[in-house]
Amino acid sequence: MKLAVPKEIWPGEKRVAVTPDTVKKLIGLGFDVAIEAGAGTDAAIPDDRFADAGATIVKTMKATVKDADVILKVRPPVVDGKTDELAAYKKGAAVIALLDPYDRKDLIEKMAAAGVSSFAMELMPRISRAQSMDVLSSQSNLAGYRSVIDAAHEFGRIYPMMMTAAGTLPPARIVIVGAGVAGLQAIATAKRLGAVVSAFDVRPAVKEQVQSLGGTFIEVDEDDAADGETSGGYAKEMSDEYKAKQAAKLKDVLAKTDIVITTALIPGRPAPQIVTADMVAGMKPGSVIIDLAAERGGNVAGAKLGETIVTANGVKIIGPENITSSVATDATAMYAKNLLNFITLSVDKDKGTLVFDPKDQIIAETMLTCDGKVVHPKFGGEEV
Ligand code: NAD
Repeated sequence: MKLAVPKEIWPGEKRVAVTPDTVKKLIGLGFDVAIEAGAGTDAAIPDDRFADAGATIVKTMKATVKDADVILKVRPPVVDGKTDELAAYKKGAAVIALLDPYDRKDLIEKMAAAGVSSFAMELMPRISRAQSMDVLSSQSNLAGYRSVIDAAHEFGRIYPMMMTAAGTLPPARIVIVGAGVAGLQAIATAKRLGAVVSAFDVRPAVKEQVQSLGGTFIEVDEDDAADGETSGGYAKEMSDEYKAKQAAKLKDVLAKTDIVITTALIPGRPAPQIVTADMVAGMKPGSVIIDLAAERGGNVAGAKLGETIVTANGVKIIGPENITSSVATDATAMYAKNLLNFITLSVDKDKGTLVFDPKDQIIAETMLTCDGKVVHPKFGGEEV
């Protein structure tokens, strides 16, 4: 069984799909591992560490993936006018990556046409057995941490209260909108740095989690909030009535807030816009907003992906792009472990074979294409 790891060519992507530790384990499962030269450089993993772990270092992407049965990646294969990563894969190869399926129906069709089996890691079911493979959780956790650090860097004040002979500095007030994996880590990080933290979410189950981390839960409307969760544990789109109540409450709260971190997402849909221009206009000069949902359209009016906007009233709105790449070494360690756990599921070590079982919920829910067809029912395929 041959496994390949090309260098990521997605602009700004610093992560890589394996670490020396997971390479050793993949070899233990029976894989020959080929890694493109320089694949780990941006995540602080030099080629010789991969070579020491037993991988073969290959000069070009084409030569790395040529005979591979499995290709591990972070980003979707790049297919544009200049580059065609898919064309380099052999027919029947499996590609395992973040494939952005909701926004890349074009790529799903291309992968089917290329005869490539593909597995989108963002579709991992939220069941206990799949927890160790859940890349959205592992990466969101780091994004939540880093957003608080980035906000501290942009904020002209400090987080903790400080009582000194030169006077008393009040603590920073931080509001986290969306207390999922990223939001909860942001709460924990901001608390550790001494800020006063509150948070809100449409899923009422979150209230206790926020409080257990020392945050205050902002109540919008208990009755409506009870409807905010799907059976899969994700949020769903809220009624207009709820949105109006949420807006009134938030406007009030944000006028007294120094830092806002928004993380609200709804799978398969654009991010809900929660912080309006009117709310931003009511905030104090020097306040900082980090919109972690900027890649999915943003939670904050005026946020621009990859940019810092300063509003007329002196509020900074930051729309980070690929924030996990700014902690690429740790993000790689976690992502690589998630992928190792995922592939282990399909390896028969004794026979030295790799079989993806479509009856397994984890395979069925992540597999987009197989044998030249789109197979995922959510993306136009029929279940195999
Ligand atoms: P997410 O990234 O899809 O969304 C982030 C948060 O935004 C969520 O908490 C969501 O409820 C919230 N949100 C959406 N719309 C909102 C709105 N209009 N206003 C305010 N908040 C809004 O979610 P996530 O972080 O990936 O996790 C969702 C839940 O799933 C969490 O409770 C998490 O602990 C759970 N989870 C379970 C498993 C498992 O059981 N294996 C694995 C991972 C996560």
